Amino acid sequence: MANQDLLGELVDIARSFATYGKVADYIPALRDQNPDDLAISIYSIENESYYAGDHLKKFTLQSISKVIALALVLMDNGEEEVFSRVGMEPTGDPFNSIAKLETHKPSKPLNPMINAGALAVTNMISGNSVVEKWDRLIEFICHLTGQKVTYNEDVAYSELQTANLNRSLCYFMKQHGVISGNVEDLLVLYTKQCAVEMNCMDLAKIGAVFANDGADPESGKQLITKDVARICKTFMVTCGMYNSSGEFAIKVGIPAKSGVSGGIMGSVPGKCGIGIFGPALDEVGNSIAGVKLLEGLSGKYSWSIF
Ligand code: GLN
Repeated sequence: MANQDLLGELVDIARSFATYGKVADYIPALRDQNPDDLAISIYSIENESYYAGDHLKKFTLQSISKVIALALVLMDNGEEEVFSRVGMEPTGDPFNSIAKLETHKPSKPLNPMINAGALAVTNMISGNSVVEKWDRLIEFICHLTGQKVTYNEDVAYSELQTANLNRSLCYFMKQHGVISGNVEDLLVLYTKQCAVEMNCMDLAKIGAVFANDGADPESGKQLITKDVARICKTFMVTCGMYNSSGEFAIKVGIPAKSGVSGGIMGSVPGKCGIGIFGPALDEVGNSIAGVKLLEGLSGKYSWSIF
């Protein structure tokens, strides 16, 4: 497994790339993050953990939550229902693009890792109200981390006030029968989901559950079915790093999902989960130092699945 000193060295090297990135500012509450932060935790399926940097600092999941919501919704509704509303194909467009919704027929989102697809997925969480749906989602996340996790109200509120592009995606999809119900309720749920807050260690633990075919490495309990864990990891490979998933697959080769807060969750099948936080982003919205760090790690330990 990993080596604590080497991890520290890799973090120091990767941190120097943060100066070439930029903190996300389209969600006002994310603007104040420190671009030089970089931390990592690794949680092996043998329950060993390693870390470097401020690994207990909390950050919001943002798009990383998409893969978690997908796992829940697939278990709730089954593959057939879910994939009747969202596709399985990667896109070369940015994560918040509306373009393909109109030009691609049928007009359902291309995949669950872009905003349109994630909104359609969150719309399928079972429950009779926003509160019930939220309770199920957060309870699921608490089981995955083994911790009492909650969300950052300021970040959720800040996104809700400014999420007009996501609103447009929802209204477009409602018109075309991809989503149902009240759009504002869906946005409340989605922005809370994106604002779920945790540290690198918690995130690494979730990555380890996926790496362990859906079973909690600690208790052995099957938290996600093996099939659903496989589907989620596949989406992480094909679409998890937005429109640079192809380059990431070549250079890193680890199923991973990033978020605009600067988090990345990695899952090395049969080995470990990885949680990274580095808020300076590259032009597509991935943690610039985080990607470098994963590149270094994957090379060092031959973790590419290819
Ligand atoms: N909450 C963000 C949004 O919907 C998540 C996007 C991301 O992390 N790429 O815009």
